[in-house]
Amino acid sequence: MSDIPFFSFSGMHSQIKPEILKVFEDFYDSNWYVLGKNTEEFELNFAEWNDVKYSVGVSNGLDALILSLKALNLKDGDEIIVPSNTYIASILAITHNNLVPVFVEPDERTFNLDPSLIKEKITSKTKAILPVHLFGQSCEMDKIMEIANKYNLYVIEDNAQAHGATYKSKKTGSWGHINGTSFYPGKNLGALGEAGAITTNNIKLFEKVKALRNYGSEKKYYNKYQGVNNRIDELQAGVLNLKLKYIDQWTDERQELAKIYIENLSNIEGFEVPYIHSEADHVFHLFVVKTNKREELMEYLKNKGIGTLIHYPVPPHLQEAYQTLGYQKGDFPIAERLANNCLSLPLYPGMTNQQIEFVCKKIINFF
Ligand SMILES: *Cc1c(COP(=O)(O)O)cnc(C)c1O
Repeated sequence: MSDIPFFSFSGMHSQIKPEILKVFEDFYDSNWYVLGKNTEEFELNFAEWNDVKYSVGVSNGLDALILSLKALNLKDGDEIIVPSNTYIASILAITHNNLVPVFVEPDERTFNLDPSLIKEKITSKTKAILPVHLFGQSCEMDKIMEIANKYNLYVIEDNAQAHGATYKSKKTGSWGHINGTSFYPGKNLGALGEAGAITTNNIKLFEKVKALRNYGSEKKYYNKYQGVNNRIDELQAGVLNLKLKYIDQWTDERQELAKIYIENLSNIEGFEVPYIHSEADHVFHLFVVKTNKREELMEYLKNKGIGTLIHYPVPPHLQEAYQTLGYQKGDFPIAERLANNCLSLPLYPGMTNQQIEFVCKKIINFF
C-alpha cells in the first residue's frame, strides 16, 4: 500500500476538473471581477441549501464571524460565551470586536460546548453564545437556543467545520440569529483560495452585513456604516457554486468511510472513536480519536506511511496570544485533556475502503 496522506484534494478535484476549468474560462471572459453574477448566484444557492433566507459571501471564515458580531452593535467589554476547546478563529472574532470571551467547557464525548455549563457563566454583561460545531458534529442546538431565548442572548454559530450537518434534522448554520462559515480549501465545502459566508433569517442583520462587507455601503459611494472590504472573490464564488452541487455526495462518502473506521476500531482498550450524538448527523470534517498513547501512535503510523494531525494541540486560553486574559494551566481541564489526547486520522472524499482498512489494521497492530 502506498503512503496515505492526512488529506488530499485529488479525489474531489479530479472528478470536477473539466467543469472547474469552464468556471475559470467563463470568469475570465465575463469582464466583471468583483461582486458579480457568481456571487449573487452562490449566495442564493447557499442560502437555499443551508435552509436559511439569506446568505452573504465574504472573504473568509474569520471575517464572517467578525462581521456577524459587528452587526449586533455590542459594547466594548460585553461577554460572549464560547467553548474552551475551539479553533483560535472563534476567539479572535470576539476579541477583534473588543468583546470578552467567556469559556465554557465542552462535553468530553462530543468535543462540543456543554449546554448544562452555560447558565453559571451568564452575567449582566453576557450578550451572546458562540457555539462551534467542532469536527463536523452539531452542538445540542435546541438546548442552546432555549437558554439564549430565556436570557435574551444572541446566538452566532461557528459553522466552519459542519457544512450540511444537522441536529434533530435541522441544519447547522440555520439555528442562530446570525452565523459564520468558512470555505477554506480544506473545509468540507472548500474554495480554491479564501472565502466564507454569513447565514441568517433576519433581514435587518442580512442587510447590515451585506453593507459592512463592502465599505458599509448599500448604494455605491454612499456609506451608511464604517465598513470594511470583506468581499468574497468572484472567482471563488464560481468555484463554490459548482462544488455546492457535489457537497452532499462528498458528505455521504465521508460518512461511509467513517463507518468503516468505527466498525473496525470500536473495541480497542485505551482508544476511543468519535462519539456520535443520537440526534446529530455528523459530517466528519475530521475523524478525531482519543488515546493517551497519542505521540507513540502518531509516530508508529508515520513510519507506516500514514499521515495524522492534532486538532488542536493548545487550547485558546493557553495560547501566547491570549496571555492577556490571565488564564493558567488547569483552568479548563476538559479542553486541556482533549488537547493532549486527540488525534485526527485521514478521511476525505476519494479515499478508498482499502486505505481506511489499512489504517485500521495498523492501529489494531499498534495496540
Ligand atoms: C477554519 C475555521 C475558521 C476560520 O475560517 P478561515 O476561512 O480560515 O478564516 C473559524 N472557525 C473554525 C471552527 C474553523 O475551523
